[in-house]
Amino acid sequence: MKKFYLLLIGTMLSTFSLNAQQLFSTTNIQSAYKNQTRTDSGAVGKNYWQNRGNYDIKVKFDPATNILSGQETITYYNNSPDSLKELIIRLYPDFYKKGVHRGTLFGDVKEKDLTGGVSIDQLVIGNETITDFDKPEKAYHDNTNLIVYPNNAVAAKSKLNLIVKWHYTVNTGSQVRTGMIDSGSYFIAYFFPRLAVYDDIDGWDDWSYNGTQEFYNDFGNFNVEISLPKDYAVWATGERQNSNDNFSSTVLKKLNIADTSNKIIHVIDSADYANKAVFADNASGVWKFKASYVTDFVFAISNHYLWDASSVITDSAIGRRTLASAAFNPIHKDYFDVAGQAHQSVYYMSHYYPKVPFPFPQITVVDGTDQMEYPMMVNDNPTPTHKDAVQLTTHEIFHSYFPFYMGINETQYAWMDEGWATIGESVISPKMGEPEDEGIFSKGRFERISGTDRDIPLITNTKLYDGDAYLANAYGKGGICYWVLQDMLGDSLYFKALHQYINDWHGKHPTPYDFFNEFNTATGINLNWFWQKWFFDRVYPDLSIDSVSQNGQLVKIIIINKGRLPLPVYVSVRYTNGHTRNFHYGADVWSDGVKQITITEKTSAIIKSIMLGNDHVPDKFEKDNIWKAK
Ligand SMILES: [Zn+2]
Repeated sequence: MKKFYLLLIGTMLSTFSLNAQQLFSTTNIQSAYKNQTRTDSGAVGKNYWQNRGNYDIKVKFDPATNILSGQETITYYNNSPDSLKELIIRLYPDFYKKGVHRGTLFGDVKEKDLTGGVSIDQLVIGNETITDFDKPEKAYHDNTNLIVYPNNAVAAKSKLNLIVKWHYTVNTGSQVRTGMIDSGSYFIAYFFPRLAVYDDIDGWDDWSYNGTQEFYNDFGNFNVEISLPKDYAVWATGERQNSNDNFSSTVLKKLNIADTSNKIIHVIDSADYANKAVFADNASGVWKFKASYVTDFVFAISNHYLWDASSVITDSAIGRRTLASAAFNPIHKDYFDVAGQAHQSVYYMSHYYPKVPFPFPQITVVDGTDQMEYPMMVNDNPTPTHKDAVQLTTHEIFHSYFPFYMGINETQYAWMDEGWATIGESVISPKMGEPEDEGIFSKGRFERISGTDRDIPLITNTKLYDGDAYLANAYGKGGICYWVLQDMLGDSLYFKALHQYINDWHGKHPTPYDFFNEFNTATGINLNWFWQKWFFDRVYPDLSIDSVSQNGQLVKIIIINKGRLPLPVYVSVRYTNGHTRNFHYGADVWSDGVKQITITEKTSAIIKSIMLGNDHVPDKFEKDNIWKAK
């Protein structure tokens, strides 16, 4: 909490709300409290459970045909108290299947890129082999989901084995977060069948992926073997298990140096390709990776990408390092700086914001076709400017915390991951010399829709909207809200609460209520009035200077919150003698329904002009933020 300036008078109280209000909670959240899987203090409930799946995958990809074929064993742990009669298997590549529903934002798949979807060549659930996938009482497709009713329900607190063999054709165009990058490079995501999430809030997550909303996956261990033509290098989620089987001694030596080097090492450079020194003579073309407790696994391959890498101390207490890499096409000049940007991003995230050691042993930014995050991997298109590259790199790497460390249900509450990546990007990019033009990324986007019918209360399930409303709410409004919170609480209280939330919920599936409750408990302040306005009410950003008066030595400035969204008040007063006086009050001046505040000052100087706001504070109507003496 920030102390008000001594001369501030007005109708507000000197502390946060005295009348703690209750937030509306949906019936499924009420059930979670009742079942003690979650608590109204924000702490993880004593009956909290979550399911998980471990994946052993062997996958083969042939760039000549674009056919990907795989087989996997899934060990699924039903830790829930429920017996599961139904299983939902996600077939994300069916996004490219003819006739499947796609969203409006990123769902534009060209006719030529439509495919027949995933062919299931074998599906064994427990001891039962399923062969008919067009039989509603046994197994059927529902857009990108495969719904299966096994003969035997999966008992509560039991383990199930599944074997799946499948193949599909990887898209070469209409890249939505996956597909061919160029004729010798691919970013391959969402490529394996997996169990949907079954959780304590909604039961099965039966949402079909449509390209707009992002993901919600269980945590699990991945053991993956990727077979490729021998002239392809691979970058993937997880740690390399058999680099010796594939890379030349030249590359291996450089990779070893990068593991402990603060300076960028050109692990694979143009000379290595020219000298045919990238791969071992007897390379196997089979690449093995292991990743522990992650929500997804992806890989990228190329027969001509360069690879720059260095490592960063991410946990000073134990000296743990993270390898930060970029794999890129040398025709994209901006990419020569990306490995350095990745290094700096990981450094600032670990030590500055959110000030939590980077949660993964490595991160690779791949020169791709999108602007998308995956555990330990990023698929970023080349950018026209250095500024764009810095901001994009930082943003996508920030997602390592939200949603990946924190297990956010992004399909349902996009602001719980995009809002954080937005503010993370906006805080860290200036440290790297490239501040946001708008102060906070997507602030303008939010201002444009704020107060209109597309300005949707953030608590709304993200699955219910698309387009502009999705972008403005998930990114702009979410990111600004976190900044306003920090501005109001002050750094020490803000980080205390943020760290408590992260420490309690990493590796789990927090809901918005867990976030609200953790902040209320950790700060010792009931912030429900703040959550109510920012997440539930129809209010918009609009502060205005109502009046300014100067009676002898007493100056009075009245500020009105017309839009009723709680925002910090930054006021800059200029005097005719050339002096400037700045005032700042946190958004808590608007608690308890306060609509107007009065700032007073004793001075003999004459006011020339007054400016309200700064580049971080959104404001729908800025005309009334400036006052000039007549
Ligand atoms: Zn993002």
